[in-house]
Amino acid sequence: MKTDFLTGKPEETQEIAKKFAQELAGGEVLALFGDLGSGKTTFMQGLAKGLGIKQRIISPTFILQRSYKVKSSQEQGIKHLHHLDLYRLKGKRDIQGLSLSELFRNDSVVAIEWADKIKDLLPQQHIEIHFTYVAEEVRRIQFFKKHE
Ligand code: ADP
Ligand code: MG
Repeated sequence: MKTDFLTGKPEETQEIAKKFAQELAGGEVLALFGDLGSGKTTFMQGLAKGLGIKQRIISPTFILQRSYKVKSSQEQGIKHLHHLDLYRLKGKRDIQGLSLSELFRNDSVVAIEWADKIKDLLPQQHIEIHFTYVAEEVRRIQFFKKHE
């Protein structure tokens, strides 16, 4: 798969996420990096669509985590999408409240905005997705597979 993209509008970012979602098998941890407004949540909306989730993904900024039921095809076998947004994560207590180890399961996809805040707690094998603001409507999206 291509791993470096430039998108020219939000819909293009969502389209990339949608295609990416179709390649997931379950058990993946997606660590999203990038400044505010770089397109992480926009990407999540496409990812959710790609997993067949009908609910609109909103940024769970105040509650850190939101889970969605996935009605994916048999071969995909994904039951849950856990969306974390750690922008407002403060201390250790907040991290414990997330019960991370329960989220990292084979039937789930975990996607974490501001993953840099829990970098040490990510499973060794994960996928980093970096978002960069290039211009008003242009974003760069880069995928890096870690430890495969
Ligand atoms: P983050 O979650 O990283 O803070 P958001 O996805 O919430 O970022 O916000 C990105 C903003 O940038 C949205 O208002 C979106 O409409 C806008 N935008 C403009 N161009 C793009 C693009 N190519 N890809 C993604 N978002 C874009
Ligand atoms: Mg966001």
